[in-house]
Amino acid sequence: DLFDRVTVGTLADRLLRLLEQAVADPTRPIAALELLDEAEQARLTEWNNTHRPIPATNVVEILAAQTTATPDTTAVVTGSTTLTFAELAHHTNQLTRLLTQRGVGPDDIVALAIPRSAEAVIATLAVLTAGAAYLPLDLDHPTERLEFMLHDANPTLLITTSTTPPIPGNHPHLILDSEDTQAELAALPDGPPDTTEIQGDHAAYVIYTSGSTGRPKGVILTHTGLTHLYRDHERHLYTPVAHRLGRRIRALHTASLSFDSSWEQLLWLIAGHELHILDEYERRDADAVVTYTRDHHIDTLDITPSYTRQLLDAGLLTGTWTPPLLLLGGEAIPPALWTELRAIPETEVVNYYGPTEFTVDALTARTSDTTTPVIGHPLDNTQAHILDKHLNPVPNGTPGELYLSGPQNARGYLGRPTLTAERFTANPHGTPGTRMYRTGDLARRRTDGHIEFLGRADD
Ligand code: AMP
Ligand code: MG
Repeated sequence: DLFDRVTVGTLADRLLRLLEQAVADPTRPIAALELLDEAEQARLTEWNNTHRPIPATNVVEILAAQTTATPDTTAVVTGSTTLTFAELAHHTNQLTRLLTQRGVGPDDIVALAIPRSAEAVIATLAVLTAGAAYLPLDLDHPTERLEFMLHDANPTLLITTSTTPPIPGNHPHLILDSEDTQAELAALPDGPPDTTEIQGDHAAYVIYTSGSTGRPKGVILTHTGLTHLYRDHERHLYTPVAHRLGRRIRALHTASLSFDSSWEQLLWLIAGHELHILDEYERRDADAVVTYTRDHHIDTLDITPSYTRQLLDAGLLTGTWTPPLLLLGGEAIPPALWTELRAIPETEVVNYYGPTEFTVDALTARTSDTTTPVIGHPLDNTQAHILDKHLNPVPNGTPGELYLSGPQNARGYLGRPTLTAERFTANPHGTPGTRMYRTGDLARRRTDGHIEFLGRADD
Protein backbone atom coordinates (compact mmCIF):
# COMPACT_ATOMS: atom_id res chain seq x y z
CA ASP A 1 0.00 0.00 0.00
CA LEU A 2 2.89 2.36 0.70
CA PHE A 3 4.85 1.92 -2.51
CA ASP A 4 3.94 1.64 -6.14
CA ARG A 5 5.60 -0.95 -8.35
CA VAL A 6 8.06 1.49 -9.93
CA THR A 7 9.27 2.82 -6.57
CA VAL A 8 9.85 -0.66 -5.14
CA GLY A 9 11.68 -1.68 -8.31
CA THR A 10 13.91 1.39 -8.03
CA LEU A 11 14.69 0.68 -4.37
CA ALA A 12 15.65 -2.90 -5.20
CA ASP A 13 17.85 -1.72 -8.07
CA ARG A 14 19.62 0.76 -5.80
CA LEU A 15 20.25 -1.86 -3.13
CA LEU A 16 21.76 -4.19 -5.74
CA ARG A 17 23.90 -1.38 -7.14
CA LEU A 18 25.22 -0.56 -3.65
CA LEU A 19 25.98 -4.21 -2.87
CA GLU A 20 27.76 -4.72 -6.19
CA GLN A 21 29.98 -1.71 -5.62
CA ALA A 22 30.67 -2.74 -2.03
CA VAL A 23 31.81 -6.25 -2.89
CA ALA A 24 33.76 -5.01 -5.90
CA ASP A 25 35.84 -2.80 -3.61
CA PRO A 26 35.29 -3.53 0.10
CA THR A 27 37.72 -0.75 1.15
CA ARG A 28 35.54 1.95 -0.38
CA PRO A 29 33.73 4.11 2.21
CA ILE A 30 29.97 3.57 2.10
CA ALA A 31 29.42 7.27 1.44
CA ALA A 32 31.42 6.96 -1.78
CA LEU A 33 29.11 4.32 -3.26
CA GLU A 34 26.91 5.62 -6.07
CA LEU A 35 23.21 5.46 -5.34
CA LEU A 36 22.00 6.87 -8.64
CA ASP A 37 22.40 5.06 -11.93
CA GLU A 38 23.75 6.78 -15.02
CA ALA A 39 20.31 7.57 -16.42
CA GLU A 40 19.28 9.26 -13.15
CA GLN A 41 22.52 11.24 -13.05
CA ALA A 42 22.04 12.31 -16.65
CA ARG A 43 18.49 13.48 -15.84
CA LEU A 44 19.78 15.61 -12.95
CA THR A 45 22.45 17.17 -15.15
CA GLU A 46 19.87 17.85 -17.84
CA TRP A 47 17.48 19.36 -15.28
CA ASN A 48 20.24 21.73 -14.11
CA ASN A 49 21.25 22.63 -17.63
CA THR A 50 19.85 26.14 -17.47
CA HIS A 51 22.69 27.77 -19.35
CA ARG A 52 21.72 30.86 -21.33
CA PRO A 53 24.37 33.33 -22.41
CA ILE A 54 23.51 36.93 -21.53
CA PRO A 55 25.04 40.20 -22.77
CA ALA A 56 27.83 41.64 -20.58
CA THR A 57 26.10 44.66 -19.12
CA ASN A 58 24.62 45.77 -15.79
CA VAL A 59 21.42 47.25 -14.41
CA VAL A 60 22.83 50.79 -14.55
CA GLU A 61 23.46 50.51 -18.29
CA ILE A 62 20.14 48.79 -18.88
CA LEU A 63 18.33 51.66 -17.15
CA ALA A 64 20.36 54.24 -19.10
CA ALA A 65 19.37 52.57 -22.39
CA GLN A 66 15.75 52.55 -21.22
CA THR A 67 15.96 56.26 -20.44
CA THR A 68 17.26 56.98 -23.93
CA ALA A 69 14.43 54.91 -25.42
CA THR A 70 11.55 56.40 -23.36
CA PRO A 71 12.73 59.64 -21.70
CA ASP A 72 9.29 61.19 -21.22
CA THR A 73 7.50 58.11 -19.92
CA THR A 74 6.57 57.96 -16.24
CA ALA A 75 9.10 55.97 -14.26
CA VAL A 76 8.34 56.57 -10.58
CA VAL A 77 5.09 57.54 -8.87
CA THR A 78 4.86 58.42 -5.19
CA GLY A 79 2.13 60.16 -3.25
CA SER A 80 3.71 63.54 -3.90
CA THR A 81 5.93 63.12 -6.97
CA THR A 82 5.91 61.71 -10.48
CA LEU A 83 9.23 61.35 -12.28
CA THR A 84 9.82 60.52 -15.91
CA PHE A 85 12.78 58.37 -16.89
CA ALA A 86 14.65 61.54 -17.97
CA GLU A 87 13.94 63.25 -14.65
CA LEU A 88 14.95 60.16 -12.71
CA ALA A 89 18.21 60.03 -14.68
CA HIS A 90 18.83 63.74 -14.12
CA HIS A 91 18.54 63.46 -10.33
CA THR A 92 20.47 60.20 -10.26
CA ASN A 93 23.31 61.62 -12.35
CA GLN A 94 23.67 64.71 -10.18
CA LEU A 95 23.81 62.74 -6.99
CA THR A 96 26.29 60.37 -8.64
CA ARG A 97 28.55 63.35 -9.43
CA LEU A 98 28.40 64.50 -5.86
CA LEU A 99 29.22 61.01 -4.58
CA THR A 100 32.13 60.72 -7.00
CA GLN A 101 33.43 64.10 -5.81
CA ARG A 102 33.36 62.74 -2.28
CA GLY A 103 35.59 59.91 -3.39
CA VAL A 104 32.94 57.20 -3.66
CA GLY A 105 33.90 54.51 -6.17
CA PRO A 106 34.06 50.75 -6.81
CA ASP A 107 33.86 48.56 -3.72
CA ASP A 108 33.11 51.46 -1.43
CA ILE A 109 30.05 51.02 0.71
CA VAL A 110 27.53 53.83 1.03
CA ALA A 111 24.97 53.42 3.80
CA LEU A 112 21.47 54.69 3.06
CA ALA A 113 19.23 55.87 5.91
CA ILE A 114 16.46 57.42 3.86
CA PRO A 115 12.73 57.00 4.46
CA ARG A 116 10.84 55.29 1.61
CA SER A 117 10.46 57.83 -1.18
CA ALA A 118 11.52 58.60 -4.74
CA GLU A 119 14.72 59.99 -3.15
CA ALA A 120 15.52 56.59 -1.65
CA VAL A 121 15.31 55.04 -5.12
CA ILE A 122 17.41 57.86 -6.61
CA ALA A 123 20.06 57.42 -3.91
CA THR A 124 20.14 53.66 -4.51
CA LEU A 125 20.63 54.17 -8.25
CA ALA A 126 23.23 56.91 -7.70
CA VAL A 127 25.37 54.68 -5.48
CA LEU A 128 25.25 51.94 -8.13
CA THR A 129 26.03 54.42 -10.91
CA ALA A 130 29.05 55.64 -8.94
CA GLY A 131 30.22 52.02 -9.00
CA ALA A 132 29.81 51.55 -5.25
CA ALA A 133 27.65 49.23 -3.15
CA TYR A 134 24.76 50.46 -1.04
CA LEU A 135 23.99 49.28 2.45
CA PRO A 136 20.34 49.87 3.31
CA LEU A 137 19.64 50.79 6.93
CA ASP A 138 16.17 50.05 8.22
CA LEU A 139 15.27 52.97 10.45
CA ASP A 140 12.94 50.74 12.45
CA HIS A 141 15.80 48.58 13.59
CA PRO A 142 17.10 48.96 17.16
CA THR A 143 19.93 51.46 17.57
CA GLU A 144 22.34 48.68 18.65
CA ARG A 145 21.77 46.87 15.39
CA LEU A 146 22.30 50.00 13.27
CA GLU A 147 25.43 50.74 15.28
CA PHE A 148 26.68 47.21 14.74
CA MET A 149 26.08 47.33 10.98
CA LEU A 150 27.80 50.70 10.59
CA HIS A 151 30.75 49.58 12.66
CA ASP A 152 31.00 46.27 10.79
CA ALA A 153 30.59 47.67 7.26
CA ASN A 154 32.51 50.90 7.88
CA PRO A 155 30.85 52.79 5.00
CA THR A 156 32.70 55.51 3.09
CA LEU A 157 29.64 57.67 3.40
CA LEU A 158 26.27 57.66 5.13
CA ILE A 159 23.37 59.33 3.32
CA THR A 160 20.54 60.57 5.53
CA THR A 161 17.75 63.13 5.34
CA SER A 162 16.59 65.85 7.71
CA THR A 163 13.73 63.57 8.83
CA THR A 164 15.97 60.56 9.47
CA PRO A 165 16.19 59.80 13.20
CA PRO A 166 19.72 60.39 14.55
CA ILE A 167 22.17 57.61 13.64
CA PRO A 168 24.79 56.73 16.26
CA GLY A 169 28.49 57.18 15.53
CA ASN A 170 30.34 59.83 13.58
CA HIS A 171 30.49 58.47 10.05
CA PRO A 172 31.08 60.92 7.21
CA HIS A 173 27.58 61.78 6.09
CA LEU A 174 25.53 63.65 3.57
CA ILE A 175 22.11 65.07 4.46
CA LEU A 176 20.33 64.69 1.16
CA ASP A 177 17.69 67.39 1.55
CA SER A 178 19.78 69.97 3.45
CA GLU A 179 20.12 73.43 1.91
CA ASP A 180 23.86 72.91 1.49
CA THR A 181 23.50 69.61 -0.33
CA GLN A 182 20.71 70.94 -2.52
CA ALA A 183 22.81 73.97 -3.46
CA GLU A 184 25.81 71.75 -4.17
CA LEU A 185 23.69 69.46 -6.37
CA ALA A 186 22.15 72.36 -8.27
CA ALA A 187 25.60 73.78 -9.07
CA LEU A 188 26.79 70.54 -10.67
CA PRO A 189 26.82 70.22 -14.46
CA ASP A 190 24.08 68.17 -16.11
CA GLY A 191 24.52 65.02 -18.19
CA PRO A 192 25.96 61.60 -17.51
CA PRO A 193 28.66 61.67 -14.84
CA ASP A 194 32.17 60.54 -15.51
CA THR A 195 32.44 57.33 -13.49
CA THR A 196 34.66 54.28 -13.31
CA GLU A 197 33.35 51.45 -15.45
CA ILE A 198 31.33 48.95 -13.43
CA GLN A 199 32.74 45.43 -13.46
CA GLY A 200 30.55 42.38 -12.99
CA ASP A 201 32.25 41.33 -9.77
CA HIS A 202 31.94 44.78 -8.20
CA ALA A 203 29.71 44.78 -5.17
CA ALA A 204 26.24 46.24 -5.84
CA TYR A 205 24.80 45.99 -2.37
CA VAL A 206 25.43 44.64 1.10
CA ILE A 207 22.50 43.31 3.08
CA TYR A 208 22.66 42.10 6.65
CA THR A 209 20.73 38.92 7.29
CA SER A 210 18.78 38.37 10.44
CA GLY A 211 21.50 36.55 12.27
CA SER A 212 19.13 34.07 13.86
CA THR A 213 22.09 31.67 13.77
CA GLY A 214 24.65 34.07 15.25
CA ARG A 215 25.56 37.72 14.95
CA PRO A 216 24.27 39.57 11.84
CA LYS A 217 26.43 39.18 8.77
CA GLY A 218 26.67 41.42 5.72
CA VAL A 219 26.14 39.53 2.46
CA ILE A 220 28.02 41.06 -0.49
CA LEU A 221 26.09 40.79 -3.75
CA THR A 222 27.53 41.64 -7.16
CA HIS A 223 26.44 43.30 -10.39
CA THR A 224 26.80 39.96 -12.17
CA GLY A 225 24.22 38.49 -9.79
CA LEU A 226 21.76 41.34 -10.34
CA THR A 227 22.21 41.26 -14.10
CA HIS A 228 21.49 37.55 -14.22
CA LEU A 229 18.41 37.95 -12.04
CA TYR A 230 17.25 40.73 -14.37
CA ARG A 231 17.78 38.69 -17.53
CA ASP A 232 15.91 35.71 -16.11
CA HIS A 233 12.98 37.94 -15.18
CA GLU A 234 13.11 39.79 -18.48
CA ARG A 235 12.68 36.51 -20.34
CA HIS A 236 10.09 34.92 -18.07
CA LEU A 237 8.20 37.91 -16.65
CA TYR A 238 8.72 41.39 -18.08
CA THR A 239 8.58 40.58 -21.77
CA PRO A 240 5.78 37.96 -21.72
CA VAL A 241 3.61 39.87 -19.24
CA ALA A 242 3.94 43.19 -21.08
CA HIS A 243 3.18 41.31 -24.29
CA ARG A 244 0.12 39.64 -22.78
CA LEU A 245 -1.26 42.92 -21.45
CA GLY A 246 -0.14 44.90 -24.48
CA ARG A 247 1.23 47.80 -22.41
CA ARG A 248 3.70 48.88 -19.75
CA ILE A 249 3.24 47.36 -16.31
CA ARG A 250 2.44 49.27 -13.12
CA ALA A 251 4.32 47.66 -10.24
CA LEU A 252 3.78 48.45 -6.58
CA HIS A 253 6.79 48.86 -4.32
CA THR A 254 5.90 47.62 -0.85
CA ALA A 255 9.03 45.86 0.45
CA SER A 256 11.45 47.56 2.79
CA LEU A 257 14.59 48.63 0.94
CA SER A 258 16.57 46.75 3.55
CA PHE A 259 15.22 43.47 2.16
CA ASP A 260 16.72 42.18 -1.03
CA SER A 261 13.23 41.39 -2.31
CA SER A 262 12.90 45.13 -2.95
CA TRP A 263 14.85 44.29 -6.13
CA GLU A 264 11.89 42.24 -7.27
CA GLN A 265 10.14 45.60 -7.53
CA LEU A 266 13.02 47.89 -8.58
CA LEU A 267 13.78 45.65 -11.54
CA TRP A 268 10.41 46.50 -13.11
CA LEU A 269 11.69 50.07 -13.25
CA ILE A 270 14.99 48.98 -14.78
CA ALA A 271 12.90 47.15 -17.41
CA GLY A 272 11.11 50.39 -18.30
CA HIS A 273 7.89 49.88 -16.36
CA GLU A 274 6.17 52.19 -13.89
CA LEU A 275 7.06 51.87 -10.23
CA HIS A 276 4.62 53.09 -7.58
CA ILE A 277 6.18 53.62 -4.17
CA LEU A 278 4.01 53.47 -1.08
CA ASP A 279 5.19 55.33 1.99
CA GLU A 280 5.99 53.63 5.29
CA TYR A 281 2.46 53.91 6.70
CA GLU A 282 0.57 52.95 3.57
CA ARG A 283 2.60 49.85 2.88
CA ARG A 284 1.82 48.37 6.29
CA ASP A 285 -1.91 48.90 6.05
CA ALA A 286 -3.55 46.09 4.06
CA ASP A 287 -6.65 48.19 3.33
CA ALA A 288 -4.53 51.08 2.06
CA VAL A 289 -2.53 48.74 -0.20
CA VAL A 290 -5.71 47.22 -1.64
CA THR A 291 -7.28 50.65 -2.17
CA TYR A 292 -4.14 51.94 -3.86
CA THR A 293 -3.97 48.86 -6.07
CA ARG A 294 -7.56 49.39 -7.19
CA ASP A 295 -7.35 53.16 -7.65
CA HIS A 296 -4.12 53.04 -9.64
CA HIS A 297 -4.79 49.79 -11.48
CA ILE A 298 -1.61 48.20 -10.16
CA ASP A 299 -0.68 45.16 -12.24
CA THR A 300 1.78 43.45 -9.97
CA LEU A 301 2.81 43.18 -6.32
CA ASP A 302 5.64 41.23 -4.76
CA ILE A 303 4.52 40.00 -1.36
CA THR A 304 5.12 37.30 1.21
CA PRO A 305 2.46 34.59 1.61
CA SER A 306 1.54 35.97 5.06
CA TYR A 307 1.05 39.43 3.62
CA THR A 308 -0.87 37.95 0.69
CA ARG A 309 -3.27 36.39 3.19
CA GLN A 310 -3.89 39.81 4.76
CA LEU A 311 -4.35 41.46 1.38
CA LEU A 312 -6.75 38.75 0.21
CA ASP A 313 -8.78 39.24 3.37
CA ALA A 314 -8.81 42.96 2.59
CA GLY A 315 -10.26 42.17 -0.86
CA LEU A 316 -7.21 42.29 -3.14
CA LEU A 317 -8.68 39.93 -5.73
CA THR A 318 -12.38 40.60 -5.35
CA GLY A 319 -12.85 44.25 -6.27
CA THR A 320 -13.39 46.17 -9.49
CA TRP A 321 -9.72 45.69 -10.42
CA THR A 322 -7.76 42.45 -10.20
CA PRO A 323 -3.95 42.60 -10.54
CA PRO A 324 -3.00 40.19 -13.32
CA LEU A 325 0.28 39.12 -11.69
CA LEU A 326 1.34 38.35 -8.13
CA LEU A 327 4.88 37.44 -7.14
CA LEU A 328 5.15 35.56 -3.86
CA GLY A 329 8.26 34.69 -1.91
CA GLY A 330 10.18 34.84 1.33
CA GLU A 331 8.47 31.91 3.03
CA ALA A 332 6.57 28.75 2.11
CA ILE A 333 3.12 29.14 0.56
CA PRO A 334 0.64 27.15 2.68
CA PRO A 335 -1.29 24.51 0.66
CA ALA A 336 -4.65 26.22 1.30
CA LEU A 337 -3.36 29.54 -0.03
CA TRP A 338 -1.85 27.80 -3.06
CA THR A 339 -5.23 26.20 -3.82
CA GLU A 340 -7.07 29.47 -3.29
CA LEU A 341 -4.75 31.35 -5.65
CA ARG A 342 -5.02 28.64 -8.31
CA ALA A 343 -8.74 29.22 -8.39
CA ILE A 344 -8.34 32.78 -9.70
CA PRO A 345 -7.60 32.34 -13.40
CA GLU A 346 -7.24 36.09 -14.14
CA THR A 347 -4.24 36.33 -11.81
CA GLU A 348 -0.99 34.58 -12.59
CA VAL A 349 0.88 33.69 -9.39
CA VAL A 350 4.63 33.08 -9.39
CA ASN A 351 6.43 31.64 -6.38
CA TYR A 352 10.06 32.70 -5.97
CA TYR A 353 12.39 30.97 -3.56
CA GLY A 354 15.79 32.32 -2.68
CA PRO A 355 18.13 33.32 0.10
CA THR A 356 19.76 36.76 0.32
CA GLU A 357 23.04 34.95 -0.44
CA PHE A 358 21.86 34.09 -3.95
CA THR A 359 20.75 37.49 -5.28
CA VAL A 360 17.06 37.36 -4.35
CA ASP A 361 15.75 34.32 -6.27
CA ALA A 362 17.05 30.87 -7.13
CA LEU A 363 14.01 28.70 -7.87
CA THR A 364 10.56 29.41 -9.20
CA ALA A 365 7.20 27.82 -9.90
CA ARG A 366 3.72 29.01 -10.86
CA THR A 367 0.59 27.97 -9.06
CA SER A 368 -0.72 26.88 -12.46
CA ASP A 369 2.10 24.28 -12.66
CA THR A 370 0.92 21.92 -9.92
CA THR A 371 -1.93 21.40 -7.47
CA THR A 372 0.33 21.47 -4.38
CA PRO A 373 2.99 24.01 -3.33
CA VAL A 374 6.45 23.67 -4.88
CA ILE A 375 9.42 25.98 -5.26
CA GLY A 376 9.89 24.51 -8.70
CA HIS A 377 12.98 24.66 -10.86
CA PRO A 378 16.09 26.85 -11.08
CA LEU A 379 16.23 30.26 -12.74
CA ASP A 380 18.24 30.69 -15.94
CA ASN A 381 21.93 29.93 -15.34
CA THR A 382 21.23 28.61 -11.82
CA GLN A 383 21.78 25.07 -10.58
CA ALA A 384 20.04 23.53 -7.59
CA HIS A 385 21.54 20.49 -5.89
CA ILE A 386 19.82 18.37 -3.28
CA LEU A 387 22.60 16.63 -1.41
CA ASP A 388 23.21 14.34 1.51
CA LYS A 389 25.74 15.14 4.23
CA HIS A 390 28.56 13.76 2.06
CA LEU A 391 27.52 16.15 -0.73
CA ASN A 392 26.21 13.30 -2.89
CA PRO A 393 22.98 13.88 -4.81
CA VAL A 394 20.01 12.16 -3.19
CA PRO A 395 17.53 10.23 -5.34
CA ASN A 396 14.25 11.80 -6.40
CA GLY A 397 11.75 11.87 -3.57
CA THR A 398 14.41 11.73 -0.86
CA PRO A 399 14.87 14.81 1.35
CA GLY A 400 18.29 16.44 1.33
CA GLU A 401 19.84 19.83 1.86
CA LEU A 402 19.49 22.37 -0.90
CA TYR A 403 22.67 23.88 -2.38
CA LEU A 404 22.75 26.54 -5.08
CA SER A 405 25.35 27.39 -7.67
CA GLY A 406 25.61 29.86 -10.53
CA PRO A 407 26.42 33.53 -11.19
CA GLN A 408 23.86 34.82 -8.69
CA ASN A 409 25.93 33.47 -5.84
CA ALA A 410 27.09 36.14 -3.38
CA ARG A 411 30.72 37.08 -3.09
CA GLY A 412 30.55 36.08 0.57
CA TYR A 413 30.14 37.66 3.99
CA LEU A 414 31.75 41.01 4.60
CA GLY A 415 34.91 40.58 6.68
CA ARG A 416 34.01 36.98 7.63
CA PRO A 417 36.30 34.63 5.65
CA THR A 418 35.72 31.62 7.92
CA LEU A 419 31.96 31.87 7.77
CA THR A 420 32.16 32.47 4.02
CA ALA A 421 34.24 29.31 3.57
CA GLU A 422 31.73 27.35 5.66
CA ARG A 423 28.65 28.41 3.73
CA PHE A 424 30.09 28.84 0.21
CA THR A 425 31.77 25.53 -0.48
CA ALA A 426 33.58 24.06 -3.47
CA ASN A 427 31.09 22.75 -6.02
CA PRO A 428 31.77 19.08 -6.86
CA HIS A 429 28.79 19.04 -9.26
CA GLY A 430 29.70 21.90 -11.56
CA THR A 431 32.51 23.65 -13.36
CA PRO A 432 35.73 23.20 -11.33
CA GLY A 433 36.47 26.31 -9.29
CA THR A 434 32.83 27.28 -8.83
CA ARG A 435 31.16 27.45 -5.44
CA MET A 436 27.84 26.31 -4.03
CA TYR A 437 25.87 28.13 -1.37
CA ARG A 438 24.62 25.87 1.38
CA THR A 439 21.10 27.15 2.07
CA GLY A 440 20.31 25.28 5.28
CA ASP A 441 16.94 24.44 3.71
CA LEU A 442 15.60 20.92 3.28
CA ALA A 443 14.07 19.99 -0.03
CA ARG A 444 13.05 17.06 -2.17
CA ARG A 445 12.80 16.64 -5.91
CA ARG A 446 9.51 15.16 -7.03
CA THR A 447 9.16 12.76 -9.93
CA ASP A 448 7.63 15.59 -12.00
CA GLY A 449 10.94 17.45 -11.56
CA HIS A 450 9.63 20.19 -9.26
CA ILE A 451 11.45 20.84 -6.01
CA GLU A 452 9.42 20.87 -2.82
CA PHE A 453 10.50 22.98 0.15
CA LEU A 454 10.53 20.98 3.41
CA GLY A 455 11.63 23.57 5.99
CA ARG A 456 14.89 24.54 7.61
CA ALA A 457 17.62 22.01 8.40
CA ASP A 458 18.44 23.96 11.57
CA ASP A 459 14.91 24.72 12.73
P1 AMP B 1 16.31 35.58 3.28
O1 AMP B 1 17.76 35.31 3.13
O2 AMP B 1 15.97 36.49 4.39
O3 AMP B 1 15.71 36.02 1.96
O4 AMP B 1 15.59 34.20 3.67
C1 AMP B 1 15.74 33.10 2.83
C2 AMP B 1 15.02 31.91 3.40
O5 AMP B 1 13.60 32.14 3.40
C3 AMP B 1 15.20 30.66 2.57
O6 AMP B 1 16.40 30.00 2.88
C4 AMP B 1 13.97 29.87 2.93
O7 AMP B 1 14.11 29.22 4.18
C5 AMP B 1 12.91 30.95 3.06
N1 AMP B 1 12.20 31.18 1.78
C6 AMP B 1 12.39 32.19 0.91
N2 AMP B 1 11.54 32.08 -0.14
C7 AMP B 1 10.80 30.96 0.04
C8 AMP B 1 9.76 30.31 -0.70
N3 AMP B 1 9.29 30.79 -1.84
N4 AMP B 1 9.25 29.15 -0.20
C9 AMP B 1 9.71 28.65 0.98
N5 AMP B 1 10.68 29.23 1.72
C10 AMP B 1 11.22 30.38 1.28
MG1 MG C 1 14.76 36.52 0.10
